[in-house]
Amino acid sequence: MSNKDKIIELRGVTFAYPETDNRPVLDNISLTVYAGEMLALLGPNGSGKSTLARLMNGLLLPTGGCVLINGIDTAREDARWEIKKQVGMVFQNPDNQLVAATAEEELAFGMENLGLAPQEMRQRIQTISARLQLQPLLAMPPHRLSGGQKQRLAVASVLVLQPQVLVLDEPTSMLDPAGRQEVLAELRRIKQDGQTVVLVTHDMTEALAADRVVVLEQGKIVFEGTPRACFSDAAWLTDQGLAVPPAVELAHRIRQKGLAVPKDLFQVADWVDFLCQKSSR
Ligand code: ADP
Ligand code: MG
Repeated sequence: MSNKDKIIELRGVTFAYPETDNRPVLDNISLTVYAGEMLALLGPNGSGKSTLARLMNGLLLPTGGCVLINGIDTAREDARWEIKKQVGMVFQNPDNQLVAATAEEELAFGMENLGLAPQEMRQRIQTISARLQLQPLLAMPPHRLSGGQKQRLAVASVLVLQPQVLVLDEPTSMLDPAGRQEVLAELRRIKQDGQTVVLVTHDMTEALAADRVVVLEQGKIVFEGTPRACFSDAAWLTDQGLAVPPAVELAHRIRQKGLAVPKDLFQVADWVDFLCQKSSR
């Protein structure tokens, strides 16, 4: 497949929940997700990220415009199953997702629905649980797991299905830094394998790993571009209601004092490199 294949296409999508008096939660959104890219979706609470994620796998249908998955309209009744197979979804709250009696059955559940051979199922469970450190948990009931463990299991239960696109709604919000690293490493790996990822996140480190960033505010796209362009402007981030990463804040304040510092200091490591280079000159 070429890099420019469109996998998900939103054309002028508007969405309103009936409960909110038809006030649109998403307003005329046009957005394309290309094969093999990792797209990060950012925005303050209530900006419409989870709603957009649910529109991407046909769980919600637009009230205006249309959503196409590989060219198939999600509103087509006869395409529901095919769309669910192509777009794997990890929900913001893993409790909404986990249904089986044990973690291992949870991983097997979706694959059984796909009709995979037992040998293939065992193989995939083994590979993914090793990568996400789930082996010690396989015999446990999901409801006994911690929030972070549930989140890793929810990610794993979608990864084993090997969908064409993964839509993950804040999949690391309950994880500690080590758990975050594991999930992020796994996302990088699947991206390298050529899988397409849409990642809703608050975490700048995760967003920096993306190829492209889209920022939503009150149901509208207010930015679309590279992660570096998105994070370099502290004042703009604050205006959008987004958290300013500490390293960016530091650069901003020093710049305000009249000192020139580069625009690409996003993380502590960038500062360390910059200062070391400066002092070794
Ligand atoms: P985000 O994920 O960016 O926090 P959401 O998509 O969850 O945003 O919510 C966008 C808006 O839609 C918010 O104003 C929220 O209150 C409203 N909303 C979300 N889910 C529902 C629902 N099931 N019924 C009614 N309103 C909802
Ligand atoms: Mg949300």
